Amino acid sequence: MKAAFAVLLLVAGLSSCQTAGPTSRPVSQRPAGVRPYPMVTCAVCEDLLDGRGPEVTEVRGRQELIFCSPACQQRFQASPSRYLAALPRAN
Ligand SMILES: [Zn+2]
Repeated sequence: MKAAFAVLLLVAGLSSCQTAGPTSRPVSQRPAGVRPYPMVTCAVCEDLLDGRGPEVTEVRGRQELIFCSPACQQRFQASPSRYLAALPRAN
């Protein structure tokens, strides 16, 4: 009885995960296939990202970006290629 219940749960879990992709990795808000942000500083002003400010995360293409504030995100969006070119390649 217990085994049958576990199988039911597994099937239900598999069918509900089809659009979300594999969930075997540790909990993360980053979608599968997106490269993690490679630096500890803001992508625009290079301030240290200490987790205490109003940090903003954005995914551009398949690259995750983190800014120290919404103002820096706006500066990035004004000329994204300039800041993307300055990122170290993590792959
Ligand atoms: Zn910044």
